Amino acid sequence: MYKVPCFYHPESLAIGQCARCGQPICATCSTMTTSYITRIPRRLCRVCLALSEAKTIAIIIGTFVPFVLMASIGWVFFVISPIVGWIYLLTVPVISAIGAIFYYRGKIREIKAT
Ligand SMILES: [Zn+2]
Ligand SMILES: [Zn+2]
Repeated sequence: MYKVPCFYHPESLAIGQCARCGQPICATCSTMTTSYITRIPRRLCRVCLALSEAKTIAIIIGTFVPFVLMASIGWVFFVISPIVGWIYLLTVPVISAIGAIFYYRGKIREIKAT
């Protein structure tokens, strides 16, 4: 068996390793998640789990939000002027990407602080 203490709780024994950072973790700290891409279940520590959740949300902010914004009200700007429309079309993904990066960075800071 595994005789390594948990990375987060030195008093309890680890039941396995985090699939992402490789740290030994106990039952309280580990969560089994299934990767969206590979569909393979893997064990993640709470930091890596929070990070992967933050990443998923950041990806949604960076891709889905600009898509919805462009698909819903994008035409309004083209009605105003094609130039305004193109500016909108080019700036929305950039602003969303920056927003996503800021969100992700803020989350990392938040996770590391806990
Ligand atoms: Zn981890
Ligand atoms: Zn633990």
